[in-house]
Amino acid sequence: RMELLEDVSLKRMLYEKPDTLKPPRTDVLLVTPWLAPIVWDGSFNIDILNAQFHQRHVRIGLTVFAIKKYTVFMKPLLETAEKFFMVGHKVNYYVFTDRAKEMPNITLADGRQLEVLEVPSYKRWQDVSMRRMEMIRDHSRKRFINEVDYLVCVDADMKFMDEVGVEILSDVFGTLHRAFWGASRTQFPNERRKASAAYIPPDEGDFYYSGSIFGGTVEGVHKLTNFCHHEMLTDKENNIEAIWHDESYLNKYFLYHKPTKVLSAEYHWENYPGVGTIIKKKRFVLIRKNDTAIRNK
Ligand code: UDP
Ligand code: MN
Repeated sequence: RMELLEDVSLKRMLYEKPDTLKPPRTDVLLVTPWLAPIVWDGSFNIDILNAQFHQRHVRIGLTVFAIKKYTVFMKPLLETAEKFFMVGHKVNYYVFTDRAKEMPNITLADGRQLEVLEVPSYKRWQDVSMRRMEMIRDHSRKRFINEVDYLVCVDADMKFMDEVGVEILSDVFGTLHRAFWGASRTQFPNERRKASAAYIPPDEGDFYYSGSIFGGTVEGVHKLTNFCHHEMLTDKENNIEAIWHDESYLNKYFLYHKPTKVLSAEYHWENYPGVGTIIKKKRFVLIRKNDTAIRNK
C-alpha cells in the first residue's frame, strides 16, 4: 500500500467553523489527560472523518465469538451491523464459532464479507470469554494483518441501534462501561487482590472500560490481546482468576498502556426507555439475556 505517495488532500467541503470559544459539549469530558479524544455525539463531523478514511481505503474487521448457544445472537448482531456499522466502508465480519452450521444466512452489502472461523469451545463460560484474547491474538498475526487495517472486537449479546462509524477508529481504543462511566475509582469493579496479575490499586485507574467492545489497528489489538492472554495464564498458574475475567485484564492493560481514543457509553449502552440528556444516541446496546439458560450450554 503506497499510502505515502498518494495525494492525501481532501475535496472542498462546506461545514460550520469549529469555534475555539464554544466547545460542542460542555456536559462531558471530551479529551483524556493524555490527549486522547473521548467520542461523544456532537463532538465530531462524520463527513470529514469519512472523507479521510475513504481516502485511505480503510478496511475494518469486526470480530465476534458465537460459541455454543451464543450463535442465536448472530442474526440480530449482523443484521443491525449491516444497517449501522461502518456503512460505506469495507468490512469483514469474523465470527469465531464451534457451530458453523448454525450461522444465519444474511445478505451483505457490497464490500462486506462474512468469514466463519471454526474454533474449539471451552466448558466454563469464563474460559470461553477469556480465551477470546488468545484467539484474536493468534488470528491477528495469521490472517487479520493481511486482510484489514482495524479490528473492532465485540461481545455477541449486542446489537446496533444507531450509527457506529470511523469516528471510533484509532491505534487502540477502549469504551466507557455503561454502569461505571460516572463512578469514582473506588467504585470501579477492578481486581483488588494483589495476588492477581489484573490487580489495580484503589488509588489508580482512569476509567472503567467495558470488555464488550474494544479495538484498534491489527497491531494495536495484537499487543493488547497478547498482554491480556499472558496475564490470564499467569493467574491460571497461580490458581487465581480475575474478578471480571478478560475485562479485568483489559482494564489493567489500559491503565499502563493508555488508549489513543476512548468511546463514550453510547457505544456500550442498554436499550433503556427514552433518550437521556447525556447519552443522546444508543449506538451499540446489549441484549438482556437469561445467563443461566444460555451459558455453559
Ligand atoms: N461467549 C460465547 N459462548 C458462551 C459464553 C460466552 O460465545 O457460552 C462469548 C460471547 O461472545 C459473549 C462473550 O463471550 O458475548 C462474553 O460473555 P457474556 O456476554 O455472557 O458476558 P457478559 O457480557 O454477560 O458479562
Ligand atoms: Mn456480553
